[in-house]
Amino acid sequence: MTDAPCSTETDRLVLIRGDLTTVAADALVNAANASLRGGGGLDGAMHRAAGPEMRAECLKMRGCPTGEARITGAGRLPARQVIHAVGPMWRGGQHGEHALLASCYRHAFLLVQAHGLRTVAFPSLSTGLYGFPIEEAAPIALRAMREALARQPALERVTAVLFTDADLAVYQRTLAQLDSAR
Ligand code: ADP
Repeated sequence: MTDAPCSTETDRLVLIRGDLTTVAADALVNAANASLRGGGGLDGAMHRAAGPEMRAECLKMRGCPTGEARITGAGRLPARQVIHAVGPMWRGGQHGEHALLASCYRHAFLLVQAHGLRTVAFPSLSTGLYGFPIEEAAPIALRAMREALARQPALERVTAVLFTDADLAVYQRTLAQLDSAR
């Protein structure tokens, strides 16, 4: 990755395979649940890596509705802030899941802007324990990322951190499809 100044949405959007808890960025986005009390999957890993201060801040929030996000410090994570985004649990696709997932990304980017953060790294929200099919989640995530990059010139880099090669391949394929549809 490079810190060279970039201009278009395309070169400020980076897809990598990796462990989000080790990625350095102004903000890391956590796949949280509505209690904000920590859970399994990435949420558990983020809380273990961040340490008790972030958990204490989360507990003070008294939860977060699905489709929204909250921001805290990052404890020992290599970031300034963590944005806890609560994605929807997949219930077959007819219960507003797509709109709620899009809302989650939008809320996260509103916090990025409000806090003057220039680099942000996301996991693939909802596509783990919450069961959202990644083929349907990827276009929602990538559209939201491109829209935010277009709207926020101060945003230097958005990184999607995929946990597996298979997930990365879906994101890469989806991005290529979105680019060719432009
Ligand atoms: P959700 O409940 O929103 O589905 P999960 O934590 O189960 O949250 O999964 C969200 C995504 O994060 C999944 O694609 C999963 O493979 C991925 N994931 C899990 N651990 C990590 C990690 N350390 N870094 C990046 N992505 C991760």
